[in-house]
Amino acid sequence: MKRTVLPGGTIGVLGSGQLGRMFAIAARRLGYRVHVLSPDDDTPTGQVADVEFQASYGDLDAVGQFARQVDVVTFEFENVPAETIETVDKFVPVFPGGHVLHTTQHRLREKTFLAQAGIPVTPFLAIHSAAELEAAGDEFFPGVLKTAAWGYDGKGQAKVASRTEALSAWAQSNREQAILEKYVDFAAELSIVAVRGQDGAMTSYGPIANRHANHILDLSVAPGNFPSQVAADAIEIARTILVALDIAGVLCVEFFLTNDGSLLVNELAPRPHNSGHLTVDAHVACQFEQQARAVCGLPLACPTQLRPAAMVNLLGEIWQNGTPDWLGMLAMPDVKLHLYGKKNPLPGRKMGHLTVLADTPESAAERVQAARQRLRRGRWTNPEATGFGLAPAGL
Ligand code: AMP
Repeated sequence: MKRTVLPGGTIGVLGSGQLGRMFAIAARRLGYRVHVLSPDDDTPTGQVADVEFQASYGDLDAVGQFARQVDVVTFEFENVPAETIETVDKFVPVFPGGHVLHTTQHRLREKTFLAQAGIPVTPFLAIHSAAELEAAGDEFFPGVLKTAAWGYDGKGQAKVASRTEALSAWAQSNREQAILEKYVDFAAELSIVAVRGQDGAMTSYGPIANRHANHILDLSVAPGNFPSQVAADAIEIARTILVALDIAGVLCVEFFLTNDGSLLVNELAPRPHNSGHLTVDAHVACQFEQQARAVCGLPLACPTQLRPAAMVNLLGEIWQNGTPDWLGMLAMPDVKLHLYGKKNPLPGRKMGHLTVLADTPESAAERVQAARQRLRRGRWTNPEATGFGLAPAGL
């Protein structure tokens, strides 16, 4: 179903984290009102929305009330239950649709869909029991054992060097459905943030070069330094998935680039993505504006990058020795600070990010990491950062 909601209309958002916050800011700039629903209050999104609706996703009466007050609905995280989307759908359309969430909120469904669509993915096996792990071929070790549902930012993931380690990780898990992936010794990680309008028009950002630390995104740099064929293939794969899933909205495709130069899709996110945060400062229109335009049935905006850029996440660890040195960091006048309004800086929790634009991707990356370093007080141990491979030299 198509839906055009002109500026001045009201957009509903399911989920209330930083992605919803940056979406709400972009949507309000376009003149929309934003209502957000989540189980929490005083949330990153609620702080900047017009209306914050506190209810559990399973409270379908509340969900219905929320839906009646808006013109269209989108979401900012993919673990919204199916019945919540079905309830909203009775009143107003949801973009991207419930079928997209169904596929992407479950790793096995997602990988199976991709493999069936002929898209190269990390070799994987469905695991429901210890016996299936016993029977897994030797080629899956070393591997990564991941819960099939509800995983994000490395939660529910264990790197397993051997079958014995996999069996013990399984025994320690809640033993729900899991996926065993071969460990990919990749040369680099990259992402494409792609967008499709309700009229089928498509555009994209990237490839963006990404470095993770402890399975959490640490640094993103754009433009990523990749061979032009790799970039073209990654964009083509993202477009194929947008069409195959019939998405109206934003889709991030995360890839591994293997040492022999081939691309494997690691993960999909049917929404703006952490690696696309640098589009807010570095591009004519950012990923959040594109989401607003796509869900409201407007023409897509120009994604052109204005200058090379780099982004680092600020995790809760930055607060480990007290209030970060904001004044010291902000003395670097080219650093853009984004904080999400979260009160409790737990380890691994995404509290904000920094972006720097510069003449080259390398200098942007160097400077944004120097800025983050300034925030750290006292003795600091860097988390282990892995796999930047083909990224610009010096990272
Ligand atoms: P995911 O939540 O699946 O996106 O995983 C987060 C990060 O963990 C990835 O971006 C990689 O850095 C790492 N990772 C996950 N799966 C694998 C794998 N099969 N092989 C190598 N690294 C992986």
